[in-house]
Amino acid sequence: MSECDLLSLATKGVQTLSPYQAGKPIDELQREYGVSDIIKLASNENPLGPSDKVISAIQSELAELSRYPDGNAFELKKALANKHSVNINQITIGNGSNDILEILTRAFVTPEHEVIFSQHAFAVYPIVTQAVGATAVVVPAKDWGHDLNAMQKAISDKTKVIFIANPNNPTGTWVDGNSLSAFLQAVPKNVLVVLDEAYFEFASFDPAAENYPSGLEYLNQYPNLIVTRTFSKAYGLAGLRVGYSVSHSQVADILNRVRQPFNANSLALKAAEVALADQSYLEEGIKLNAMGMQQLISAFDDMSLSYIPSVGNFICVNVGENAMNVYDDLLYQGVIVRPVANYEMPEYLRITIGTKEENTRFIDALKKVLNK
Ligand SMILES: *Cc1c(COP(=O)(O)O)cnc(C)c1O
Repeated sequence: MSECDLLSLATKGVQTLSPYQAGKPIDELQREYGVSDIIKLASNENPLGPSDKVISAIQSELAELSRYPDGNAFELKKALANKHSVNINQITIGNGSNDILEILTRAFVTPEHEVIFSQHAFAVYPIVTQAVGATAVVVPAKDWGHDLNAMQKAISDKTKVIFIANPNNPTGTWVDGNSLSAFLQAVPKNVLVVLDEAYFEFASFDPAAENYPSGLEYLNQYPNLIVTRTFSKAYGLAGLRVGYSVSHSQVADILNRVRQPFNANSLALKAAEVALADQSYLEEGIKLNAMGMQQLISAFDDMSLSYIPSVGNFICVNVGENAMNVYDDLLYQGVIVRPVANYEMPEYLRITIGTKEENTRFIDALKKVLNK
């Protein structure tokens, strides 16, 4: 066997897998382009930074770092159960909600199965599907969003999981309560529906998202529903990695068998508990986002650029066929955004809403790069 054959040792799905493309880290841009004073609007992170309460909670936890975390995450689960009025045994904590998406795929999906998701949907769905060797069934989007009718029609007797991002990343589109309800009603009970609500806090605050549903309200009626949420976005804890799912307790029991025993670290557990209780930090971030969204939309209108209306903390703007060059030119201005060609959106860039100052810098840089 020659040296290059190692790839052939990997499982079939993994052989053709392309890794997740993350937003460019600030340090990397500094290193590679020699630019300084960089702003990053590329990974839908919270521009406020962590709250003082979170920082001091973490500091007081540091002395215990030689201990394993609570593998059952009792305190955080208790706080979540309380907040959402669900039973503690319905909750599964993940190392980010990404972890949950992966655990559930490993627990339920085999190479014989099909997994359904929408075109332009979150890139982790194809990755977790392919990693277990299952077949991805990608349903064409409608007006950039999920076409739930078509997704329903795509169900076969091989379908095991359906992923729905509500709202979706990167498009910022969302499905309303009536459509979701009808969809859940139509899906066979032996097919799991994963409702990814990573941006729930933004969408539920946004008056434009009329009749935006909380997946949690459907859990009693649909035991095959799994709702995932995260502390990475509105709660501002992306670096710590903590998210969770709420599901039927039997599903939670299954996820619990597959997950690593200490998948969420002690600092993350503590920080999430504190962040969950800090409603004012959450609201401050959500309001800042709403204002920033207006700021970007007005600027796009001024520049006659089209965009996809979004109820998340990010927005996709059409900068034309040279989007990759525009992305690169912005990097030289010290502004990191996200190209989305890998989402079949080659003319678009996804911009995370930043602080007012960051948004202004992005807008100025974009005007310069596009000669507007
Ligand atoms: C950011 C994101 C997640 C989860 O991120 P974690 O940091 O792993 O919690 C999940 N789904 C979507 C659609 C996202 O954009």
